[in-house]
Amino acid sequence: MVIDPQELAVPGLYVEGAVRSVTVNAYERNPQARQACVDHYGFDCAVCGFNFANAYGTIGEGFIHVHHLADIAKVGHEYQVDPVKDLRPVCPNCHAMLHTSKPSMSIAKLKTLLKQYTNG
Ligand SMILES: [Zn+2]
Ligand SMILES: [Zn+2]
Repeated sequence: MVIDPQELAVPGLYVEGAVRSVTVNAYERNPQARQACVDHYGFDCAVCGFNFANAYGTIGEGFIHVHHLADIAKVGHEYQVDPVKDLRPVCPNCHAMLHTSKPSMSIAKLKTLLKQYTNG
């Protein structure tokens, strides 16, 4: 699917205490791309495994952010997004952490950090 890769600020996606808003791109906001991604991967965070329905019950059902893996700046303006190849479901905490660097850090790197600090 072709999506206008305009960058959009997402209210509510921010790093607590950092007083910094996080910008995600249109692929992460596109409902069809998002649906195709969660149809394939489900609703578990690709970084920490958190599942909102398991944690909060009914109100958490279907809740997850979707993260676009490619650096948006490197992609041309008409870009075919492959929701399975290019997108991953992530919880808002991990999503905010992924976007603390620009371009966003890899899921593998954030997983390593999470492991390092939660098991340490
Ligand atoms: Zn997570
Ligand atoms: Zn993202």
